[in-house]
Amino acid sequence: MAASLAALLQARGYRVRIRKFDPYLNVDPGTMSPYQHGEVYVTDDGAETDLDLGHYERFSGVSARQSDNVTSGRIYQDIIAKERRGDYLGATVQVIPHVTDEIKKFALDKSDDLDFILCEIGGTVGDIESLPFMEAIRQLRNELGRDQSISIHVTLVPYVAAAGELKTKPTQHSVRELTSLGIQPDILLCRCEHNLPENERAKIAAFCNVRKEAVIPALDAESIYAVPLQYHAEGLDDQVLHAFNIDNNKEPDLSRWYDITDRYHNPEGEVTIGVVGKYVGLQDAYKSLHEALVHGGMAHRTRVNIKWLDAEMFESEKDLVSKLEPMHAILVPGGFGERGSEGKIASIKFARERNIPFFGICLGMQMACLEGARNVSGIDNASTSEFGPTDNPVIGLITEWQSKDGIETRDDDSDLGGTMRLGAYPAKLNDNSHVASVYEAQDIEERHRHRFEVNMAYKERLEQGGLIFSGMSPDGSLPEIVERPDHPWFIGVQFHPELKSRPFDPHPLFASFIGAALKQSRLV
Ligand code: GLN
Repeated sequence: MAASLAALLQARGYRVRIRKFDPYLNVDPGTMSPYQHGEVYVTDDGAETDLDLGHYERFSGVSARQSDNVTSGRIYQDIIAKERRGDYLGATVQVIPHVTDEIKKFALDKSDDLDFILCEIGGTVGDIESLPFMEAIRQLRNELGRDQSISIHVTLVPYVAAAGELKTKPTQHSVRELTSLGIQPDILLCRCEHNLPENERAKIAAFCNVRKEAVIPALDAESIYAVPLQYHAEGLDDQVLHAFNIDNNKEPDLSRWYDITDRYHNPEGEVTIGVVGKYVGLQDAYKSLHEALVHGGMAHRTRVNIKWLDAEMFESEKDLVSKLEPMHAILVPGGFGERGSEGKIASIKFARERNIPFFGICLGMQMACLEGARNVSGIDNASTSEFGPTDNPVIGLITEWQSKDGIETRDDDSDLGGTMRLGAYPAKLNDNSHVASVYEAQDIEERHRHRFEVNMAYKERLEQGGLIFSGMSPDGSLPEIVERPDHPWFIGVQFHPELKSRPFDPHPLFASFIGAALKQSRLV
């Protein structure tokens, strides 16, 4: 909702930023399992954030920052640190005002150059955990004044098939709960499977104390890309401006949304990509990757079918050939831990030997190096220190690197939370390399989230095996990209390019990869 509204406000020429409040107690989602919480989205400034920030960024085109996502855990951590330092000068530290003040400060932080800040509160009205956030919002609305803030409440209007009826009671109850916390919504966005008839809309308006035009039906859209256009057709942006008392009857420029929905819904070609990973049971675990592949398809007006393949399946040769043969390209994504790694290495060998386009991302790139080391360079037991002690650590722990804030150092005993090489780092690409032609540039900047790196002591032997280091950190110390010049499309990257892809600006690596898959589809 927030992402689509941001897109609509931008289409009217406003500058927006979206923020997410997560009421759980983890300091950030960095240490949470992708199965619990979906992917961890990394910002340029190195924050590990909720995956919704990726959605916001893809829809608004505005790069998210550390200051756009906060959890209860972080708020409490900051407050307790201040309390220990003695900053509260002996005062009793309490949820109101100390926690609520921090939340309000966070909501308005770094907003000088903006017209609108959209704050989304995670969870459901009535949750115990979200109460301080609700209270902070109530206070903030009072402090800002009536036409400086509005509240939009997303509710559910379920359809009971047996009775053939839409039920408005859950909406009424949740609005009652919200008003009991002192927040009267200005706009209701009602999620429903069937169109909301006028009389039901009027009923909701009357019971919930909201104008009828501000009860906006939000039906399931044909795709997520169609949501902004649909909300616009239902009047969401008009109602938001009306609630702010802003006179603006200029039509928004939604041309880029018409363009991408057309590309997505009317494809001219089709490819099938095999993603060989570990968290294939939950699509949110690879949210940005999924989106970036679709964006790559939009660049070619091509439908991208993604087959999520469990790497553990590929420990036997038979399964591997029958499952991978129909793929027009193979991608091994980022990940952590040893489980499934042999299956990933076997899939990479298959892609290399059969000349099938291959894209390795982060752990996928590291596995491509192990595959080359073992099967081409003859380093039999090549491994990564991530999986335990090894005689041939072709991938090893990064112990030192240069960040914007100076030299960062790590060792085996460092904490797990927030200690990876995180955020945007520059890389230099070799002249005449495949990646330089894909990016049409030699200097790039991409987002990272890793603890290990290719061990440069093995560089020469890997290069003798045909795996070229075509991108390095500017000081030449950290390998960023490997590629095989003797293969139609074989690229491994230490960073996460999927985090920067946007529907109206597909990432060049994904656009090129889907292009290669299209070529491959014409061969088979
Ligand atoms: N586990 C690997 C590392 O820490 C790769 C991380 C990733 O794929 N994001 O280096």
